[in-house]
Amino acid sequence: MEELTKLTLVETLEGLEDKKFSTEELCVAYTQRIGELDSKLNAFLTVNEECGGIPVAVKDIIVTKGIKTTAGSKILETFIPPYNATVIERLFDKGVGVIGKTNCDEFAMGSSGENSAYGCTRNPWDLERVPGGSSSGSAAAVAANLCVFALGTDTGGSVRQPASLCGVVGFKPTYGLVSRYGLIAYGSSLDCVGSITKSVEDAATVLEWISGPDGKDSNCSQQFKLDRTKLKSGVKGLIVGIPGEYFSQGLDKKVKEVIKTSIRKLEALGCKTVEVELAHTKYAIATYYIIATSEASANLSRYDGIRFGGARDLFGQEVKRRIMLGTFSLSVGYYDDYYAKAARVRTLIKQDFEKVFERCDVIVGPVSPTTAWKLGEKLNDPLSMYLSDIYTVTANLAGLPGLSVPCGFADNLPVGLQILGPRFSEEKILRVGYVCEQVGGRKLRPDVQSYSTSGVE
Ligand code: GLN
Repeated sequence: MEELTKLTLVETLEGLEDKKFSTEELCVAYTQRIGELDSKLNAFLTVNEECGGIPVAVKDIIVTKGIKTTAGSKILETFIPPYNATVIERLFDKGVGVIGKTNCDEFAMGSSGENSAYGCTRNPWDLERVPGGSSSGSAAAVAANLCVFALGTDTGGSVRQPASLCGVVGFKPTYGLVSRYGLIAYGSSLDCVGSITKSVEDAATVLEWISGPDGKDSNCSQQFKLDRTKLKSGVKGLIVGIPGEYFSQGLDKKVKEVIKTSIRKLEALGCKTVEVELAHTKYAIATYYIIATSEASANLSRYDGIRFGGARDLFGQEVKRRIMLGTFSLSVGYYDDYYAKAARVRTLIKQDFEKVFERCDVIVGPVSPTTAWKLGEKLNDPLSMYLSDIYTVTANLAGLPGLSVPCGFADNLPVGLQILGPRFSEEKILRVGYVCEQVGGRKLRPDVQSYSTSGVE
């Protein structure tokens, strides 16, 4: 039974087609494994015994009809949505079932999983370390084989970064390619549903399933077709940009080594690398945290105690901090200096990328400046936590697709390589990701069973 939980989505689909096992057996195998291991990880907030399909784990910020959806917050502790998000409906059409809802930073605000009102999730590679965030439970669940694949959301890196820290594949598509309908909003101009999977091919499959126009999200109208045959066609002749700004101080030396080695491997496979400049990267964190918190302050005003019940003092500390930051940035007298200025810098960041993509196909660099850090290490220092998002927030500001693919280890902790491309260049990104995965170590999985740490409070 345990063997079933090791299969990728593509392998699972083949097994089902060949009638080697049934979806019922899959659900039993995964439910059993969750029962054995999740007390150590705290990846799930709700387990759905009536999964009834290929088991997907869904970040608890995506609404599921009849299944409690908390957004990691006490304010939604009793919220049972009366409808499904579009992505959930699309997965149901493909025979997928929700095995459970995963833990996350409250309202997706965080980079470590520690801002959840329901306790932190632990990293399956080292239970004393964070899994990354905010899709913390989704990444940990995939890494520990507690689901076939997972859905997360990425507003500033929340799919790519935890995937990187947990050694699995995280894919954030182009803004507007996947419907946001049924996603509990954080920063609406940045929010994106993405997948966390055991392989790059799985990421391509999930994207095919969940993308496409949706009348319920006005920003989601692009018809999209992925040419699967190209996925394995190699990277010969592709031009890969290496931004100097992503390798400067702040990047851990050992992480840098692993990333550089991957770049050399890409060169050996026939890519041509060129140095590129993303000059406004130094303003990215400030820009992102003004725009994201401004949008959040508006979005979270709907939790007024009337519509969803629950008084506003149930918001956690980080959420309150962001509502205040955002409200400040939008206030009369401050708007021009903060929100309006950030919106203009956002355009400059977008133009940086446009210029670079005139001469290269994709950009490659680190996802996170360090590997997974110790639980509690950055909890009392929000600024250092925010700074850890430096390589991921720009893709959201510019609306670009980004893939995080495991590419090696530093001190026995996984390192992810980030591949960014122009809008709607998913096919190319996945192609590069696919070769990186072949030369990396994707089959490696953490051995959670052997840990002796008893339970997560
Ligand atoms: N860490 C970033 C933040 O806290 C990104 C979160 C996300 O992508 N949801 O805002």
